[in-house]
Amino acid sequence: MQTEIIKIDSTNIEVAKIKQAADIIRNGGLVAFPTETVYGLGADALNPVAVAKIFEAKNRPLNDPLIMHIADREDLLRLSNEVYKITLDLVDEFWPGPLTLVLKKSQDIPPIVTAGLETVAVRMPDHPVALSLIRESQTPIAAPSANLFRRPSPTSAQHVLDDLNEKVDLILDAGKTNVGVESTILDLTQTPFRILRPGGVSLESLRTIIPDIEPYNGNKILAPGMFIRHYSPKAKVILVEENGKVQIDKINLLASEFAIQGYCIGIIAKEENKDKYSDFNVKVFGPTKNLNLCAANLFSILREFDKEGAQVIIAESVKEEGLGVAIMDRLRKASGRENKV
Ligand code: AMP
Ligand code: MG
Repeated sequence: MQTEIIKIDSTNIEVAKIKQAADIIRNGGLVAFPTETVYGLGADALNPVAVAKIFEAKNRPLNDPLIMHIADREDLLRLSNEVYKITLDLVDEFWPGPLTLVLKKSQDIPPIVTAGLETVAVRMPDHPVALSLIRESQTPIAAPSANLFRRPSPTSAQHVLDDLNEKVDLILDAGKTNVGVESTILDLTQTPFRILRPGGVSLESLRTIIPDIEPYNGNKILAPGMFIRHYSPKAKVILVEENGKVQIDKINLLASEFAIQGYCIGIIAKEENKDKYSDFNVKVFGPTKNLNLCAANLFSILREFDKEGAQVIIAESVKEEGLGVAIMDRLRKASGRENKV
């Protein structure tokens, strides 16, 4: 299959381009499209044969369920028969946006989407191209991140092409994504509600609506498919969690040790520390004070290091609050390590 790439301006969307993409979805094909978090690999969520193509293209195990993307609140009622007021309060506050809700599923949903579970994960992405595509397709779109299984998620159309060329019919290219890490997944089928994956919406902001939400417990695999080694570049990733000068000294020491053994090293540093590793190839994900920027740059830096042939990537940590929880989760998973509690 040939992969077509179409550039699309999200501030001035050309309907013909959306129609072309929606035709592919309705005919059971695959379209990669931008969301505010990362690029998604979309198929008609109600067509099991189309959904199977997603798993095949990504090489994703069938026991890893997909998120269903919708464009209108009413669509939620078709996907779940158990939508309570509290669910709608969350929807009002956070949709469209990077919050995925896990609910009891309705009979309409093919088992392949939910990996046979009785629950379904749903979200409404905050991106005009994604919303137009879903509306024009007239069906919910099942979409995981548009990367190969276990690779860093794609934050640009080029990343999608690097992983899925000839495996997807069309890529809608609207430039870089804003948030850069995936959605927060909140399970509403347990009491108290629990975060299964930290992401673009922080625990602090969720607690403004529901004070007793259980935080993410990184020590356990709570959501199916949340494998320990995930989001990984080809290089070995080492995350150094100390602070201040201790962190800098440790990274320099580790980098020197690997360099002496002949390894090609990459360092991921915060803006204020970028000059502290003068012997090495440093990429900056953002200043400590701007975790949004750190999140937005993280996956593309991992991929850039891959392209440059880095064999060992040593990363600084960020403070574990707000979006920092999601960033640290992704870095720990990229390094193949379990999360701390
Ligand atoms: P992604 O590959 O980033 O789209 O993430 C999808 C993730 O959502 C899966 O790997 C699961 O961890 C989670 N997920 C999807 N559906 C469910 C569900 N019904 N219950 C719990 N977690 C789910
Ligand atoms: Mg993914």
